[in-house]
Amino acid sequence: MRPFRALSPLYLSFPLVLVAALALARYSYRTSQLLSMRGEESLIESVRALGDQTRSRVDNFIIDTDRELFNLVDIEHLQDFGRRWMEIVRLSRAVEAAIVLDEKLQIVRGGYVSKSQKPEAEAFQRLFQQRILPMLPLSELRPDFHRHLHTHIDGVDYLLSYIKRFDAERDRTYYIILKINLEYLKQTFLPELLSPIAGRVQLGVIGSTGEMLYGTRIYGAGKFLYENSFPTTVYLWRLQVAPLESSRLRASARSREVSDTILIGMMLGVIIIGSAFLLYGISTEYRANQLKSEFISNVSHELKTPLSIIRMFGELLMLGKVKSAEKGREYAEIITRESERLSRLIDNVLDFSRIERGKAAYDMKPGDLGEVVERALDFYRYRLEREGRLLEVDVASDLPAVLLDDNAMTLLLLNLVDNALKYGGDGPITVRLRRSPDGRELLLSVADRGPGIPRDEQRKIFERFYRARAVRKKNVRGSGIGLALVQHIAVAHGGSVSVESEPGRGATFTVALPVRPVPPGEMPGEMEEALVPAAGGGHV
Ligand code: ADP
Repeated sequence: MRPFRALSPLYLSFPLVLVAALALARYSYRTSQLLSMRGEESLIESVRALGDQTRSRVDNFIIDTDRELFNLVDIEHLQDFGRRWMEIVRLSRAVEAAIVLDEKLQIVRGGYVSKSQKPEAEAFQRLFQQRILPMLPLSELRPDFHRHLHTHIDGVDYLLSYIKRFDAERDRTYYIILKINLEYLKQTFLPELLSPIAGRVQLGVIGSTGEMLYGTRIYGAGKFLYENSFPTTVYLWRLQVAPLESSRLRASARSREVSDTILIGMMLGVIIIGSAFLLYGISTEYRANQLKSEFISNVSHELKTPLSIIRMFGELLMLGKVKSAEKGREYAEIITRESERLSRLIDNVLDFSRIERGKAAYDMKPGDLGEVVERALDFYRYRLEREGRLLEVDVASDLPAVLLDDNAMTLLLLNLVDNALKYGGDGPITVRLRRSPDGRELLLSVADRGPGIPRDEQRKIFERFYRARAVRKKNVRGSGIGLALVQHIAVAHGGSVSVESEPGRGATFTVALPVRPVPPGEMPGEMEEALVPAAGGGHV
């Protein structure tokens, strides 16, 4: 196993994955925005093209009509103009009246013809001379240059087309002015022109005072609205064009943008959360691997030390290199103690591996925990006395029977006492068994007066293979599975284990086993009150 070498590129790949995910999200967002923008732009563009085309068709129609008429005016034969005019008028409905002015801007004889009734025709002639003529920039007009005046006088719209003509043969200048029939444009021409496209788009023509000349006013089309005045002829009018359902289009564009943002955000979220889970998984696995390799080296070390001690003292005994019987007994004690340690370690490892494989099975029988505690501590008493360590045992009397596995409970207690011996300094060790004040639990505690356990490590020490920082530094022997086993046994008995420790003031490990009534017939003979723990559960 080479965790570092295998992991570093993996760890490195996470920022790369994140950067790639961010770049992808940004790219997707930009592309979707671009696509929707392109779609909108092409729609706007087609609406604009249709608007421009419509405006030019209106202009061209008026300009073409004007041209035809301008060409019919022959200054030499103006007496004919009146007669021909009536014919023309029948053909060209867009022109209402025509005026021919001489170079002094006076109407020439026979130079005013009109479709209207006499009073109306005369009224317009007066209006023309008084109000319209001063507005026409005739003197600065270039010959044959065709222009328009679109104006609003006393609530009425007027459109006039005018041109300057120069007869080189006779060296005469004259002006032709046409009055365009705007009513005809509104009533006939615009509907004829616009109704075929009105089904495909929304259309409206707004007059010079904001009134609607065709269609209805378009609201809420936003960027899809095309609005422009007619370029050369009826320039006081404005044309409005918008796609059908443009407000729905706007709303759907907005909702698409929102849903794109949400989708891309979710995708990014999934990638980031997935990466975080993967990172967590890898680092957990990495830590477990590290702990396992430490465990293997610790266990081998722990196996080796007692074995070499046993071997050394065994050889001394075998070679008879024992000075006195006293010494011989001492060597035999050492051998016994070390083999006990060895067998406990092997028990621990075997139990632990059974737990790891999910094969741990406990042989639960109603029993007296006090007895189990006394028996287990017998192992230690002698050794502690020799090492000058004080062991205080305080087992309450009249404790109820509980369902327990003898061997497992012994292993649990020996692990706790062993830890108190290893890590608990030189002070006394106290083992206490009592009933909780509410009577629902038996509390088995092992307390020492050693350096204690820092608060941030108090949960971790119950994890398999975990060993406290202070211990790792000091090179104290251990495998890191003792407390994991203690916890497993306590939970299997329906109980829990906890630690209380103030750094520098020792540590107290307490195993709480719940007491419940033992079903009749399973009570041990001498017990008066028999209680059993709950199966499984418990808190840790
Ligand atoms: P091991 O003793 O083999 O290291 P354990 O699972 O029994 O493994 O203990 C885990 C760790 O908890 C120990 O390495 C030690 O750091 C800490 N620990 C256990 N008991 C005590 C104690 N009584 N005082 C201080 N630290 C302890």
